[in-house]
Amino acid sequence: MATFVEADVMRGFVVVECLPEVEAKLVAMRAEYEELLHGDGWSLQRLFSTPDFDIAAFCADFRPNRFAAVALAETESFCRRYGIWLESTGTHYNSMTPYLHPNTISPERMTTIGIYNAILFWLNDTVGREKFANLTTVDQQRATRTLRRLSALLETRSAAADPDPVELASAEFLTLLADSADAAWLDEFLESTRAHLNTAIRDQNARARGGVLGVTEYIDLRGDVSGMYPAIALCEFGRDEYLRWDRIRAAGLGEPLARLRRLTADIGALMNDLFSFEKECIRDGADFNLVSVWLLNTPGARLADAVEAAAGIVRDRLLEFVMLRDRIGALCDALPERDVAVMVGTQVEDMSGCVRATWVWQLTTLRYKGASIFVENRMT
Ligand SMILES: [Mg+2]
Repeated sequence: MATFVEADVMRGFVVVECLPEVEAKLVAMRAEYEELLHGDGWSLQRLFSTPDFDIAAFCADFRPNRFAAVALAETESFCRRYGIWLESTGTHYNSMTPYLHPNTISPERMTTIGIYNAILFWLNDTVGREKFANLTTVDQQRATRTLRRLSALLETRSAAADPDPVELASAEFLTLLADSADAAWLDEFLESTRAHLNTAIRDQNARARGGVLGVTEYIDLRGDVSGMYPAIALCEFGRDEYLRWDRIRAAGLGEPLARLRRLTADIGALMNDLFSFEKECIRDGADFNLVSVWLLNTPGARLADAVEAAAGIVRDRLLEFVMLRDRIGALCDALPERDVAVMVGTQVEDMSGCVRATWVWQLTTLRYKGASIFVENRMT
């Protein structure tokens, strides 16, 4: 059985640098960061906008879900019951759910989605990719075992005989979800969650991988790591309305809608890389982040170049998203199959919600706030 690094190489991922050189560049990056901290900093709003597109205006009328208060309280009490509530960060990540899923139709569904996100955030903040390298060997083995068992739980839909708290919580979540979700949707959703967990709960840093990913390879892998695909799928569960891809494809909208979904996932994942750069790459010492990966791939580049370039990658996707969203809207207007047009229009609206939530929630939450090179991350 190949290690995951070997497996990645076989999948065509690029290993571009020898490790001592990588380590030296990361040391230089962190030294430059300390200098930049004393400067004026960047406005993320400016970085993500153009003369014709203002991220803040694009998100101006965004509102989180109306069942937020009850769902957040229910989610917190669920997590406390299973001992998987983090006192220091729980409130700050829990708040994401009503932003990412604004169109959810009931408090029960909002709570189920909240529990899913809270389980994933608990894993992320205890054994996720930024934390993994800092764990003891015993804790790393325990985390890998938990990952294996959660993956099996999602596949078999039955918990092991001796479940630990996060498995028990996940088993109850699974029951809640299965009781009120479409069966075919559920199969795909659980598979997508497994793909997420398998990439998210491990050390993805260059040292563990044995080298640096190319920027394109990083972006592809980051999509799975981010959990954005199951998050987007949860929009269907939130409305209890499920996409019929066979009909969407037959109407000629399969390709543009799939591209819009890819853009939504990329924007969620990569915009977060800017907001959480300091949390991950400075405070946790990780380097699996668009800013550092771009820097490590670009000879002679400085952190300042990497920040501008990474933001440019996000901005390009935002502009493509808006353009493609309008094009799909026009195609839907002309579509004879009105039910397909409505189905696609609803999905486009949900993905617009996810993209706008990506900006608005990260401005709102205290999760990324502190001393920062980004104006929006500073405590005001
Ligand atoms: Mg992040």
